[in-house]
Amino acid sequence: MEKFSDALAAGLKNYRFSNADYQKLMNEALQDPDVESFLVQNQDQISQEGIDVSAAAIYEFYNQKKNGSEYTKNYDPKLIVSNHKIEVAYVPNQRKIASDNRKNYESGFALLDIAPDVRNASLNDYDGAGRQEAFAAAINFIDKYDPNGKFVPGLYLAGDFGVGKTYLLGAIANELYAQGVKSMMVHFPSFANDIKKGIRDNSVGDRVDRVKDTQILMIDDIGADSMSAWMRDEIFGVILQYRMQENLPTFFSSNFSMKELETYLADTTGGDHEPVKAARIMERVKYLSREVIVTGPNRRPKG
Ligand code: ADP
Ligand code: MG
Repeated sequence: MEKFSDALAAGLKNYRFSNADYQKLMNEALQDPDVESFLVQNQDQISQEGIDVSAAAIYEFYNQKKNGSEYTKNYDPKLIVSNHKIEVAYVPNQRKIASDNRKNYESGFALLDIAPDVRNASLNDYDGAGRQEAFAAAINFIDKYDPNGKFVPGLYLAGDFGVGKTYLLGAIANELYAQGVKSMMVHFPSFANDIKKGIRDNSVGDRVDRVKDTQILMIDDIGADSMSAWMRDEIFGVILQYRMQENLPTFFSSNFSMKELETYLADTTGGDHEPVKAARIMERVKYLSREVIVTGPNRRPKG
């Protein structure tokens, strides 16, 4: 059987190309290894009548492959046979896939108000004195956690400002994400502000719902701002209560130890002293997470 590429080449000779560049490019195109192997594999399926369309497709394919365009930044051209003619299809390339993954990642792994360095945090460079225990606990969680399995408590990272608590939460979230587990991290003081805004437009319920249901929730910087009784009991407490009932692991970071957090939660912005309510919240925190003290130098860039 005659090779289709020969037929194509012969067919093309009959065309008078007004454009010498087109002719040259077409000749090159037929020598292109992708074009050649495509033709070898598919020649039986391509009809001679389709030469016009097919030649245009081969030209387009080769031109896009060679010269690219705004479009082919994200898509690779690919030759296909459709209805016995050659056509060009465009398939998302690595760059597009990476960017889609990135978008999925950012929507799945919602880092609300979290700095870029934390978005890129990795367990691979998490080291140093004072952090071994936290590191080991993080690895242990990642090993044990199974979305369909037994409940595994998250971590409560307690330690001074700048020791890398938020960074570690980000690194854990990234590692879980690589394993298909979605986390959401909320910077609690910012979240609390959003919630207050939500009172005005009646969206408090929605805002709470968005957070409480996530597979893994990371509450960053709990205790950094003073809290009203309402924020403590109706927002923080309700989220924790839900997660406890549903056995959803929850992580915390705080400058306070658990014990200090309890003291802090007892006193509200309204001036009330309510140790029993604070203790009730802490029961939930303790159910959902295990305390790990993080020490070490302040890693924040001085400035
Ligand atoms: P904390 O939440 O305990 O206050 P952060 O997690 O914000 O501390 O860390 C403080 C700074 O140190 C941040 O700029 C963070 O990116 C950086 N950092 C923390 N841990 C690491 C690490 N293992 N590798 C690189 N940078 C780190
Ligand atoms: Mg932090």
